[in-house]
Amino acid sequence: MKLVFATNNAHKLHEVSALLQENVQLLSLNDINCHADIPETADTLEGNALQKARYVYENFGADCFADDTGLEVEALNNAPGVYSARYAGEQKNPQDNMQKLLAEMADKDNRKARFRTVIALIINGKEYLFEGEVRGVIEREKRGAAGFGYDPIFTPEGFTETFAELPLEVKNEISHRGRAVKKLVEFLK
Ligand code: IMP
Repeated sequence: MKLVFATNNAHKLHEVSALLQENVQLLSLNDINCHADIPETADTLEGNALQKARYVYENFGADCFADDTGLEVEALNNAPGVYSARYAGEQKNPQDNMQKLLAEMADKDNRKARFRTVIALIINGKEYLFEGEVRGVIEREKRGAAGFGYDPIFTPEGFTETFAELPLEVKNEISHRGRAVKKLVEFLK
């Protein structure tokens, strides 16, 4: 089956295609000639994921799924949460976002955080939601070069390496998105 993943983020496409079965042909937004900046104006992860998936379904008539992820930091009352992408401003720059988070956390001893992903799937007009989370801690400085976003400052529970130091297979096995995608894969079987 053909399934559109409502993203052009190469990292995400790579992560998710590694998890899907061979009978699913994953298409990006570029693949369907969707070059719009799809609105993400909801104030929940669920709302944003649904908004993106509905946009693709309604404008391109394709079965699709969209994800939305937030980093929830306990000492910051779960900020940046749904605003993780533009934490340091509309330029959505990961380095600026990490710098801001490190500064906000400078005097905090409670380093606990979690990534949470919600995937909204639309098949034949029916909507389904899948969720995944990974708990961990925010480091005091960046480590590692793999991955993207906040990976260099997030160490998942049970590990000493940050997501940016762990191989992709390991990240995929335990990550918020990996867990949500596994639920999606089970559903598609
Ligand atoms: P989005 O909803 O996937 O666009 O993600 C929102 C924010 O969380 C963006 O700043 C991403 O860079 C960040 N983010 C999403 N997934 C990950 C991840 O797997 N690791 C690190 N940061 C992520």
